[in-house]
Amino acid sequence: MNSLDAELHRRLDALRAQGLHRELRRVDSPQGPCLQIAGRELINFSSNDYLGLANHPTLKAAAVRAVEQFGAGAGASRLVCGSLAPFHELEAALAAFKATEAALTFATGYATTLGTITALLGKDDLIITDKLIHASMVDAARLCSAKLRIFAHNDLNDLEAILKWATQSPRPLALGFRQILIVTESVFSMDGDHAPLREIVALKEKYGAWLMVDEAHATGLYGANRRGLAEALGVSDRIEIQMGTLGKALGASGGYVCGSRALIDFLVNRARSFIFSTAPVPAAAAAAAAGVQLVQSHEGKSRCEQLWHSVNIVGDDVRSLKSSSVENQRQLTSAATNDKSAIIPLIVGDENLAVATASALRERRFFVPAIRYPTVARGSARLRITLAATHTANHIAELTRVLRTLDLGLKTLD
Ligand SMILES: *Cc1c(COP(=O)(O)O)cnc(C)c1O
Repeated sequence: MNSLDAELHRRLDALRAQGLHRELRRVDSPQGPCLQIAGRELINFSSNDYLGLANHPTLKAAAVRAVEQFGAGAGASRLVCGSLAPFHELEAALAAFKATEAALTFATGYATTLGTITALLGKDDLIITDKLIHASMVDAARLCSAKLRIFAHNDLNDLEAILKWATQSPRPLALGFRQILIVTESVFSMDGDHAPLREIVALKEKYGAWLMVDEAHATGLYGANRRGLAEALGVSDRIEIQMGTLGKALGASGGYVCGSRALIDFLVNRARSFIFSTAPVPAAAAAAAAGVQLVQSHEGKSRCEQLWHSVNIVGDDVRSLKSSSVENQRQLTSAATNDKSAIIPLIVGDENLAVATASALRERRFFVPAIRYPTVARGSARLRITLAATHTANHIAELTRVLRTLDLGLKTLD
């Protein structure tokens, strides 16, 4: 064995010993409420395809049409070989959907946050982030070379203390940080709880900061027009940088920024993950555009209602499960939130226990991922149940039934 492989075996063994080893599970079906895995059909409670659009006939047809008309590949970066029409159609659709001047799309949400934050900030700036933001923004914050301050999750007092420190009078804004950017998610990806966006907007205005909100888990789901949580809370037009992804409720893949024309023009010129990367396949843009239209349609509305119906049933069940015994509360708690979300975390704590429970669930034909460090903090491993509009009443009933047996399983596993 060469020295690289020997070293990697040591590192992989260490991951296994900590319950942190991950592996890919091959799926032989489209994404949907059921998955074919290793010749068996499992009920899928793992996907971010909240509205069930990933395998929707309208999105598939749009992708097929784009392949027929524009081919399989995009050729180069959009700034190099020309920018294919489906990207422009998607960006016009996104700007109209979010009611902003303009939009720009990227190959992934990861590339979106990385490109946007590193384009906007430099070493003279300050970036202030919520403790639980997505890894892509953590990486962007490190890469942009701005000073980084982290506030306790959803803690407005902590955020304000940092803003006060950053703008205090011996350090006037002009002599201190050039710009301050606050970054948060609207619906948090691993807990499903909501950021207090109204209060954060008020703080950023009071202290003259800019705000970027990642709506990855809210786009398509919240607000009268399903634009996201910012719409539901009435603060969309006060958030400078509205970011989101195209691969979750919108059913396709990619990421977007919606905002002013100046913001979008600047990102085209300065976002390195946009400039130095081949454009996504035109089929992805066409499918995403169809997803944006579908979300705004009557069908989008009724899919959303179906999703919230299931969320209410499972949410009630998890709450009753939590309070059914002291024993349970120690071992199985959902996040301390009643915020409405399709993400239902069952926090088990120990990494190995989370893996064992997910595996026990697979035996019973439920596909629920064990989420562990570094996705969440050490010792806060969880089963992350996600619901979709395409789950039937039967799927939901089976889930609530298995959650009760799982509860017993956890007691005996201890
Ligand atoms: C999924 C996700 C991203 C990254 O988006 P991809 O398109 O999957 O790269 C960014 N932010 C949050 C909060 C996410 O959940």
